[in-house]
Amino acid sequence: MMLCPATHCGQMMETDVRAGYDPDSGLECLFCPRCGHRGMKARTGVQLLFTGQHEYVFSYGPSLSHLKIVLSTVAINLFRTQGMPPTQLAAHVADWALLMGQVCGTVRFSGDLILSSCYEYCRREATKSPAVSSL
Ligand SMILES: [Zn+2]
Repeated sequence: MMLCPATHCGQMMETDVRAGYDPDSGLECLFCPRCGHRGMKARTGVQLLFTGQHEYVFSYGPSLSHLKIVLSTVAINLFRTQGMPPTQLAAHVADWALLMGQVCGTVRFSGDLILSSCYEYCRREATKSPAVSSL
């Protein structure tokens, strides 16, 4: 399940059974029972289509929408020291964007974002699964 992306929340999000699942986009609606934040989740997860230099393009489900994640060198190095490879970091940023309600377009994970909920979200993911460093 996904964690709430709101700053200082981190509650497990729950599926919104009324809004439910959209088979056209492959997205399902989630809400946070603690702070009320609403967002999306790709039911089958995000799939990496291709990578450029610091750029990672993801799609999800049957949707034709793409999310382009741009990572800064600072962000990549920061999370690499925590055992998270850039591709996985980019996937978490894509998950985060969906949770924030952004379903397409470009997301920049730059130095400014270190104080943001994106950074906090990825850090929580990094500490949640320390064993993935073998990837
Ligand atoms: Zn919340």
